[in-house]
Amino acid sequence: MTYSTTAIGYPYIGGEREWKKVLEAFWRNELTEIDFLQKMKEIRLARIDKQLRIGLDIVTVGDFTLYDRMLDTAVMFGLVPKRFGWQGGKVELQTYYGIARGNQDAVASEMTKWFNTNYHYIVPEFEGQALELTENKILADFLEVKEAFGITAKPTLIGPYTFCKLTKGYDKVSQVAFILALLPLYTQVIKELVTAGANWIQLEEPALVTSLDETEVKLVQEIYIQLAATVPEANIMLQTYFESLSAYKMLIELPVKGIGLDFVHGYTHNMEALRQFGFPQDKVLAAGVINGRDIWRANLAEVSTTVRAIEQLTSAEELWIQSSCSLQHVPISTALETKLEPVLKNALAFADEKLVELTEVAKYLNEKNHATNYTISESMKAIEALKKHPVRNNQAVHRAVQTVSTQDFERQSDFKTRQRIQQQALQLPLFPTTTIGSFPQSDEVKRTRSAWRKKQLSDEAYATFVAQETKRWIEIQENLEIDVLVHGEFERTDMVEYFGEKLTGFAFTEKAWVVSYGSRCVKPPIIYGDVAWATPMTVKETVYAQSLTNRYVKGMLTGPVTILNWSFVRDDIPRKDVTYQIALALRKEVEALEAAGIAIIQVDEPALREGLPLRTENWGAYLDWTVNAFKLATANVKDETQIHTHMCYCEFNDFIEPISALDADVLSIETSRSHGELIASLHIRPYEKGIGLGVYDIHSPRVPNEQEMLTIMQDSLQVLSTNQFWVNPDCGLKTRKEPETIAALANMVAATKTLRQQIQQSTY
Ligand code: GLN
Ligand code: ZN
Repeated sequence: MTYSTTAIGYPYIGGEREWKKVLEAFWRNELTEIDFLQKMKEIRLARIDKQLRIGLDIVTVGDFTLYDRMLDTAVMFGLVPKRFGWQGGKVELQTYYGIARGNQDAVASEMTKWFNTNYHYIVPEFEGQALELTENKILADFLEVKEAFGITAKPTLIGPYTFCKLTKGYDKVSQVAFILALLPLYTQVIKELVTAGANWIQLEEPALVTSLDETEVKLVQEIYIQLAATVPEANIMLQTYFESLSAYKMLIELPVKGIGLDFVHGYTHNMEALRQFGFPQDKVLAAGVINGRDIWRANLAEVSTTVRAIEQLTSAEELWIQSSCSLQHVPISTALETKLEPVLKNALAFADEKLVELTEVAKYLNEKNHATNYTISESMKAIEALKKHPVRNNQAVHRAVQTVSTQDFERQSDFKTRQRIQQQALQLPLFPTTTIGSFPQSDEVKRTRSAWRKKQLSDEAYATFVAQETKRWIEIQENLEIDVLVHGEFERTDMVEYFGEKLTGFAFTEKAWVVSYGSRCVKPPIIYGDVAWATPMTVKETVYAQSLTNRYVKGMLTGPVTILNWSFVRDDIPRKDVTYQIALALRKEVEALEAAGIAIIQVDEPALREGLPLRTENWGAYLDWTVNAFKLATANVKDETQIHTHMCYCEFNDFIEPISALDADVLSIETSRSHGELIASLHIRPYEKGIGLGVYDIHSPRVPNEQEMLTIMQDSLQVLSTNQFWVNPDCGLKTRKEPETIAALANMVAATKTLRQQIQQSTY
C-alpha cells in the first residue's frame, strides 16, 4: 500500500489577506489590469510553493479564483446572463465582476450558500443561451505551475453534476438540453488538460452527498458514463465532501479512476458502506481524514487508526490521504497568531498545520518511523490539556443547560394576541420602514476603531466617537422618515465577534480570516469554553440611541444559532449544548434591554439555515434544537415587546415552517435577488406573521430606483396582507458607502409612501 498526501483545495486569500487587498485595489482603479493579474499570479504561485515545501505529494490547481469558482465555471462555459450584453469570446473582467456585483445597468446574479458552509457562491443562470468554451482557465493554471515548479499538479473543476444542480433557470425539459450542451465542454477542458500532461483531474461533486432520488442517481451515472466515453484517457478523481456519499452502492461503480470520500463528516455512513459494499479494486480511494472544516488539532493516533481501518476494507492499492474538504474553509496558519493562550494555540490546526498533519500521518504509516511517533503523542497531549482548562468546566453553566424546560421556550401569548397588543402599543404606520441594523462602516469608523484597539485612542474618546456617529445616523434616519430606527452598530466590527468579546468562553485570533463571499472575509471567533453572560452588551448604545428620538429604536442582537454557526466551535460537547449556553446568555441580554425600555428587539439568525444538515433526513433533529435555542433566547419578554428576526440567503421556500416556529413577531429576509420564487412559494404556503421582504440588494453598490422597489412591494402584496408587511433593505448596510445608502433608502421610503397612497385610494 502506498499513501500519497493531497489537499482538495487550499485557501487563496493569503495570510495577510493579500488577495482581498489586491482585488479591492483593482476595483478602486488603483491597479491596472496587467498589474492586477500579475499580483494575482504571484499570490497563486506563493501558495503552491508553500504546499510543496510542506511536502504535499499532489498539489491542486484550479482552486484559486479571482472572485468565485462557480462564477469561473459559468463564465468558462459562456453562461453569462444576457443583461450583461456579452457578445461571445473571452469574458472580460469588467463583465465578470459585473455578474458578481452588479453594475448601473444590470443587477448582480444571485448569491447563495455553498452547501452547509458560510461561503456564498454566485448562482449561474441558464437562459437557454448557446454554451461555448470561452477560455480554459484551469489549463492556464496547470501550465503556469508546471512552468514555475516543473511539477504536474492535479487540476480541479467543479464537477458537471454539481455545477448543473446549482445552476438555475432550467426546467425538467431544458435540463437535458443544458447537460447535453455542458458535457462536450467539460470533455474539451479535460482533453486539453490530459494533452498537457495532467495525470489526475479532480471533479468536485459535493452534490453527491445530498439526498439523491432515483432519477438523480441515473443522471449522475449518465453524465459519468458519457465523460468516460468521450475522454477515456483521463484519470478522474471524483471528489465528494461534507457528508457521506449518497447511493454509495450505485455511485461507487461510476467509470472513474478514483473516488474521494469524507471520513470526517461522513465517517459512520462511509465506513458502513465500505464494510457492506467494499471499494472497487481498480480505483484509487482518496480518504478525507483530517477535518477541513474545523480548526482543531487532530488526534493523529486516531487518524492513523482510521486510515488503517479504511485500508482493511478496500482492496485498493493506493490510498490518498487528504483533508475532508477544501481547506478554503479554514484560516491559513496558527503561526500568524501571537496572542492566543498557549494551551489553546497548541490545540489548534489551520490549513498549513493540517497539511503537516497529513504528511505526518503518511510518514507514520509509510515508514512506521518512530520519529513521527513523537508528533502523534504530542497531538494527544495538546487535546488533553485543553480539556482540563477551567474555561471548559463552568459547573453553573452546565447545570443551567441541563435544567432548561419546555416552558422556557414559549412566549406568554400566541402570535395573534401579541400582534393586537403590539399594534396598540407601538402605533406604527402601514408598511413600517426599517433597516436591518448596521450602517456604513466608513473608513473613519474603521480607522478610529483600529486606533482604539491599538490603544492609540482612549476608551472615552472612542465611545464619544461612536456616540457621535450614532447621533448623526439617528438624524439621517429621521430626515429620511424611516419608521423604526437602528443605532447603526458602529461599535461592532462583526456581529458575532462583538458578542463573543463580551461573553465568556470565546477566543479571538488576529489573522484567522476565511472568505464569506467575493472579497468579503470574516474572522470567526473560537468558542473553546463554556459560554456565560457577564455584563450588558448592547444596553448602553441602544438606550443612548433611543434617547435621541421619539421613533422606536430596535435593540439588535445576534442569535444563538448564528453565533454558533459563524464561530469555530469546540468539539468536546454536543453543538446543541453550546447553543443552549449561548441562548441562555442572550436571554439575559434580552431581559436587560426590555428592562431598559426598549420595545422592539431584533435577534438576527442569518446563519440558521446555513447549519442545516445536507441530508434532508437529518433536518428535523437540527431544527428542533436550533428553533428551541432561538426561542430560549427570546421568549421571556412581555407580549408588548416585539421580537424581530432577520435572515439572509434564506431560500425561504422550503423553510417557512421552521421560520414560523421561531415565533418571532416580525421577520426580515433577503429576497431581492430571487424575489419571484419567494412570491410563488408564498402563494402555496402563506405566512401569517410580520414580514419584511428585502426590497433591494445591499450587496451591490447600485442604487435601485423607486419604481423598482415599488414593483417588488406591489408583487409582495399579492401574497401578504397589508397589516403584516414591512419594508426594508435585504441585509445590513455596513459594507456600503454613505451616499449610495442614503440615496437607496430615500427611494425606499418614497416607494413606501407611494404604496400607502395607492392602498388608501383603493380602499376608499
Ligand atoms: N444586524 C446585522 C447587520 O445589519 C445583520 C447582518 C446579517 O444579517 N448578516 O449588519
Ligand atoms: Zn442579512
